[in-house]
Parts: sequence; C-alpha cells; structure tokens
Amino acid sequence: MSLLVRDELIATARAMNATGLNVGTAGNLSVRTRRGFLITPTGMPYESLHPSDIVEVGKDGQSSGSRLPSSEWRMHRGIYDARPEVEAILHCHSPHATAISSLRRGIPAFHYMVAVAGGIDIRCAPYATFGTEELARLAVESLCDRTACLLANHGMLALAATLEKAMRLATEVENLARQYAIALSAGEPVILDEREMAIVLEKFKTYGQQQQRRVSPFRLRAGSATG
Ligand SMILES: [Zn+2]
Repeated sequence: MSLLVRDELIATARAMNATGLNVGTAGNLSVRTRRGFLITPTGMPYESLHPSDIVEVGKDGQSSGSRLPSSEWRMHRGIYDARPEVEAILHCHSPHATAISSLRRGIPAFHYMVAVAGGIDIRCAPYATFGTEELARLAVESLCDRTACLLANHGMLALAATLEKAMRLATEVENLARQYAIALSAGEPVILDEREMAIVLEKFKTYGQQQQRRVSPFRLRAGSATG
C-alpha cells in the first residue's frame, strides 16, 4: 500500500486532535486495503508517527509491521467485513458525542442534519469493553443503514468512502451532539417526526447529484459551490 495512504492517515489523525475532535491517543483511524486495512498503532502520539508506524491488519486479524495495531482493530475489522462500501473508519472520543453516549442515548432528529449519517437518527451502541469482539458486534448492529453511531460511555464512529469524508462526518456528528447537549440542558427538544425526516432523507439523496450536475469542476475548484 502506498506511502501516500499512510501519510494521509497520519495527517488525518493529527487533524482530528488539532480540531478538538480527539485528545491524545484515544481515537483511531483506518483505511481499507486489498489485504485488510491500515490502522494507526496503539498508544503512540500522532505527532511522532512515521509512515512505517502504521500497521496493516489482514482479514484474518494478523498484523504486520513493527508496531501493534490500535486496541480497537477488531471493531474496524468487524465493520469492514459487514460493510463492503466502507473504505475509511474514524473512531474518536470527541467531547460532546462522548457526553451524550454516557447518557446511553443516541442523537434523535432534534435537527434535520442527523440525516447526514443516513437515517432518521444516530444510534448509540450498548456498552461493551473497549477492544472486544462484543463491542465490534454491537457497533456493527448500531451502524445498520447508518454511517455513524455513538458507543455508550465511550465515543463515536464515522464511516465513509475516504478519510477526508470520514473526518467531515465525524465533525458534523460532534457538532450535532454539542447542539443536542445544549438543547437537553435547556429543556426537552422537539423531535422531527418520521414523515419530516423522510422528506429530508429524500432531499439529501438528490442534493449531491444536483451539485455535480450544475457546478462545473472549475467552479467547484474556484470555491463557488456552497455547502
Ligand atoms: Zn475508543
């Protein structure tokens, strides 16, 4: 696997901490490869990571390289096994998502943007000890038809086709968790019903396509497309 992918993993891990999504070595990141996946090593500060520190874990769970893989490699393997469309996984202990996860609740449709994870809510997986097959199984279940979930008393997961998209999704989920936490502290937020969310999900399906049709690559590069 190319050096570029390892560099991108390291750059994204550093960005995850620089943007406040994660602190220290708590989170982990991976990218699918032909053999299995590349993942950040366990317990190493991202600032000191070298491309050779990134570990490749095979589909059989055997890792190669000089470092040990993240303690959550089973969770990453479980997701890649269950979700063939997923190419990158980001796991972090972002403050607000983790706070909501400690309430053992997911993020309901208090805001229509929860549709960013593919459904009418962002679920919270039940608690299991970190690094276990049990946690991997519970995460996969909670991610059914979704690209993000919270993990009870732990943190969150974001799945995407690229590391950059996984990072964007995780940032959005953390922002939603923050807004939801503020709403909960002020009262009981009104939750959008399934009918409203069905409309939003439909609009989300065509939104990207419209953007691609209407905006030329040049205009996209020039930054005239709006998010
Ligand atoms: Zn974790």
